[in-house]
Parts: sequence; C-alpha cells; structure tokens
Amino acid sequence: MKTRRVFLQRAGISAVALAMPTLNPLLAMTKSADPLKNYAQTLRVAIMGLGSYGTRVAEAIQSCTRTKLVGVISGTPSKVVEWREKYGIPEKNCYNYENFDAIKDNPDIDAVYVITPNALHKDQVIRVAKAGKHAICEKPMAVNAADGQAMVDACKEAGVHLLIGYRMHFEPNTLEVVRMRKEGELGEIRFFQGLSGFVIGDPTQWRLDPELSGGGAMMDIGIYSINGARYMVGEEPIWVTAQEVKTDPVKFKEGVDETITFQLGFPSGAVASCLSTYNMNYLDRFYLNGSKGWAEMQPSTGYGPIKGTTHKGPLTEPIVTHQTVQMDEMAAIIFDGKEAEVPVNGAEGVKDMKIIDAIFKAIKTGGKVDLTFG
Ligand code: NAD
Repeated sequence: MKTRRVFLQRAGISAVALAMPTLNPLLAMTKSADPLKNYAQTLRVAIMGLGSYGTRVAEAIQSCTRTKLVGVISGTPSKVVEWREKYGIPEKNCYNYENFDAIKDNPDIDAVYVITPNALHKDQVIRVAKAGKHAICEKPMAVNAADGQAMVDACKEAGVHLLIGYRMHFEPNTLEVVRMRKEGELGEIRFFQGLSGFVIGDPTQWRLDPELSGGGAMMDIGIYSINGARYMVGEEPIWVTAQEVKTDPVKFKEGVDETITFQLGFPSGAVASCLSTYNMNYLDRFYLNGSKGWAEMQPSTGYGPIKGTTHKGPLTEPIVTHQTVQMDEMAAIIFDGKEAEVPVNGAEGVKDMKIIDAIFKAIKTGGKVDLTFG
C-alpha cells in the first residue's frame, strides 16, 4: 500500500503547478483554442533521429496516457515510410534535417525529441526552439557546458521548455532511494560509488568518432555515474579529480576516452568514486553509504528492471518502462508546471556537462579541479 501510494503521489500533479511565467503565452493560447482536441492534456511529439534509441522511445510512447508520437524528422526516406505506416504518422508531420525549421508552422506538434549523435544536439535544439517548439534532448545534452548553456539560453529566449532525457529521474526504485536519503533514513551521506560501462563493438560507429560523439565512454555511459552521484548524494560537487587509461589507442583515438576513473568531493564532505569505460562489461552499479544505512543498485541505470537492496531490505517499487513514464511525466512538466522529483531541465544537463569538462581538464592537468554552480 505504502509503495503504491508513494508512487501515485509522485505521479500526481503538484499543487504548485502554475504556468511557467517565462513561457510564450501565444503557444499556450494556441493549445487551448480548440478544447475538443484536448491539446492541454496530450503532448504531441515528433522524434528527430530514428535510430536505435529513437525506436525504443517510439515503442514506449505507444503505452503513454498523455503523450503521442505524431511526427518524425529523419534523413532517411525509407525509415519515414516505415514509421508512417507503423505509427500512423501523417505526411504533413514528416520533415528532414534541412527543412524541419518549417515545423514552426505546424500547429499539430508540441515538442521535438532530439535523439541524434551528441555533437548535433546543440544546433538541432536551437533550431527547434527557434521554431517555437518545446525541446526534449537526449543525454549528453551537448559536448561541453558552453554549448549546453547556449541551448538553455535559446530555449529561454524562445519561451519553450528544454528537458533532458534523464529517464532514471522517473524510475520508481531510484526515486525510493532518493526519498530515503531525503527523509534521513540513510543518515549523513558519506560515500557514493558509480560504475558505468560496457564493451563497445563496431569501431566505425559514431560513438567512436569524436566529431560526432564529443568524447567516448564518459559522454555516453560515464555520465550516468556523474548524474547518479548528484541525485544519490543530493549535493553538487565542489571538486573533481580524474585518471585515464587507454589500452587500445587505435579503437579509442585522440579525443575518445576508453576508461576513466574519477572522484568527486561534495560540500558536506561526502565523496564519490566512479568508473566510466567502454572496455568492461557487467558495470552498472551504484552504492550509497550513509551514517545510518546504505543502498545498492545493480542494474542501476540500464533499461531495467532496476534492482536494489538497502539496509532495510530489497527495493520493491513497481517495474516500469522508463521511457513511457518519462514521456508522460514530461507532458505534466510542460502542461501542468509539475516539478520532477529529480529535475530534468536544461540547467541540470549543463551541470553534468560542467563536470565532464572538469574531468577532462583534471586528466590533462593531473590535479584537482574546483567546481562552482551558479
Ligand atoms: P543511433 O546511431 O542508433 O541513432 C542515431 C540516429 O541519428 C540515426 O537514426 C541516424 O541516422 C541519425 N543521424 C542524423 N544525423 C547523423 C549523422 N550526421 N551521423 C550519424 N547519425 C546521424 O544512436 P542512438 O543509440 O539512438 O543514440 C542517439 C542519442 O541517444 C545519443 O545522444 C545517445 O547518447 C542517446 N541515447 C540515450 C539513451 C538513454 O537511455 N537515455 C540510450 C541510448 C542512446
């Protein structure tokens, strides 16, 4: 009962759900103009980038209660035909990378979910914002903090939301550990360990091309330990140190990190020790230690089911399809002003990018790099 109640409460609409003052009032007026279409309730999304994760998100949206896949942006006409047939997408909601700015004249699309290679996110999100549509962007939001901030600024100027695809921020077992930590059940947090990695295959893929990836394992998978350290400890780090190991400089060329260990220090004195790698499997583990208890999760950030135990026993929250919950929660953030328990806005994404920038700097200098978050 407790579990169900807490989950429903989390999924509910916040009492402070007021319209965001920075949002463009014209957009809101357009949505409420035709109440029969219930625009204010259903988030009508176009997916940009019909690759492996875009496909996963599209499938997950089919089970959403207030999000609908209504459009696509793709450079591959055959995929557009396939997706149109599969998801009943009208031709007028299909765009390519050259002409998608015209989406500004399409009143049937509320948001664009950018699911393309990392280095493309910045320009694509800025174009989406300029077209007056809300932007949802995959992690990493960009390839450095300056680009991430430019995306935040562009969305703010356009009066649209920028949300990052941090699906773990809506995952029930993860939120249960966050609740335990917030309510003091773990006592004072002293240590976090995050292990994130897998053995990457095809050496020709964009993830190993620094022009498109902006890095290697850190941008792709290590970011889960960075982000997890922040939401598990509940503080922003004030310093970072890092060390890099490269066993295969041919596969992992200049600018593509293979394995990085890094340490974060937090204002309370808590520390984190993390591993990011493209060269080891079975690495998807979080461990959180406090003065009164502990939590461990393995798998901690994979597609699920997420499993874990705390000093009180196993985690037993509902198993969900992460992207289904994420998209419906994002609809509530956009339309109801709901605040996510663990934020997913652009500013959160910039914090992770700042830490990644500092990790790369710490590797170069071999020293401690201080961090500040304005
Ligand atoms: P993918 O290679 O399977 O798909 C990328 C898509 O982008 C393809 O459809 C490709 O055609 C398109 N594309 C457009 N321009 C391109 C270009 N210049 N070069 C290469 N491809 C181009 O990749 P993916 O696994 O779907 O990853 C896409 C994004 O999603 C990445 O930012 C990744 O980090 C993120 N992702 C997130 C999760 C998650 O759990 N949140 C999981 C996987 C991937």
